[in-house]
Amino acid sequence: MRPARWVPQPEYDHEGFAWVDVVCTDKGRHPLARLAGVELAGDSGMMSHQGRHWWPPTPDADPGSGLSRESLTFRCPRCRKHTYVKPDRWWPALRALAAGGVSKTELDVSLLPF
Ligand SMILES: [Zn+2]
Repeated sequence: MRPARWVPQPEYDHEGFAWVDVVCTDKGRHPLARLAGVELAGDSGMMSHQGRHWWPPTPDADPGSGLSRESLTFRCPRCRKHTYVKPDRWWPALRALAAGGVSKTELDVSLLPF
């Protein structure tokens, strides 16, 4: 996994708050596409629905719908790839990215190691 690109934004730089841009580049094969934004505040996290390129775990998902019953589903509008991430991996990964007081970061789902 390539190191995350860190973009400090001092105006958001207050304790425990971080914004993560969730993007896809298909491992660098296409220009950056935004899939979601996540706001982290202390122990809570909120995913924004802008663009609607992700879905939460969907317990009654139909097989073949492309959605997962247990994982978050990301669908890239450029490469059309689906990425599935279990919530118990997603949130710790975001918190690890946001650790260290940097308030704006980027996470490329095509580079996730899981
Ligand atoms: Zn993509």
